[in-house]
Amino acid sequence: MTTTATAKPARVNHLKAALDPAAYLCITPLYLGSVSSDEQGDAVDSLLGDMFDLFAEANKLAPYSAPLGNAEVRALHAERGIADGRFAKKGTCDHCGAAFKFGYIFEHVTTKQVIVVGRTCGQDFAVGSKALLAMTRLEKGLKVAAESAKRAKVRAAFLALHDGLAEALKGTHSIVADINNKLTQYGSISAGQVALVHKLNAQQAEKAARNAEVAAVSNYVGTVGERITLELTAQFFTSFDGMFGTTYVNRFVDAAGNVVIHKGSVDMRYMGYDAAGNFVASVCPGDKVTVTGTVKAHAEYNGIKQTLLSRPKTK
Ligand SMILES: [Zn+2]
Repeated sequence: MTTTATAKPARVNHLKAALDPAAYLCITPLYLGSVSSDEQGDAVDSLLGDMFDLFAEANKLAPYSAPLGNAEVRALHAERGIADGRFAKKGTCDHCGAAFKFGYIFEHVTTKQVIVVGRTCGQDFAVGSKALLAMTRLEKGLKVAAESAKRAKVRAAFLALHDGLAEALKGTHSIVADINNKLTQYGSISAGQVALVHKLNAQQAEKAARNAEVAAVSNYVGTVGERITLELTAQFFTSFDGMFGTTYVNRFVDAAGNVVIHKGSVDMRYMGYDAAGNFVASVCPGDKVTVTGTVKAHAEYNGIKQTLLSRPKTK
């Protein structure tokens, strides 16, 4: 009677504790996670491609011409890997048992078995810290992109429930832009904020219409450098603080609708004098006032031709 005895291959321990890194060669880097856009897929492919080239050169071993896809990785591991390994059983790192997305396939040189390990364990095989950094960075980027894709979905769902809001949020008012960002960030905004967006847009449209009316009639007055005296109606006074102190903006309009401005250090509200030069009252919007000033510039602002005066005096 004859018996055929097959020599059982020696059981190889690929676990972390018993490992000699020199006994393995890196075959390919891999990514087992998902991507949520073509751009992300391209970013993963490009990183894996670069790493693959590096390892192929360093190992002088290129049994594959490119990084393997998920299905190929699993097929290769099933064919040559350890049957009771962790990747075969649970899809986790053969080396330490942790879950991972970025990792590597290593070939055990003597048995030709392959093990699939996560990117951190890959360090034990001296694949280089640059590779680990690049994978870590890309994984963070993919996470951020996946989160923002999720937020975009929630935002779109909210917009679908509010007629005209998507269009209204394109408004250029800074508060509208702010609310728009909040919607992107939190996925919803309050009813009050929705109403405010529409109100601010309406106010802005009204203001634009008013500006257009003024722009249609306003022309430049005098010539630059000329000292002129004008009969004007005060329109508004405002001021802002800057690096060189307070700047006052005093806006007037003449009978023809020409806009005349003094922008500078003089607050013209306090230039109400009578013919004798005595202070009589402060100037309020709507008041008629005779202003003498030097034409400093002709300039267009919000489509309105404006004559800018310097060294203004009233009488
Ligand atoms: Zn591991």
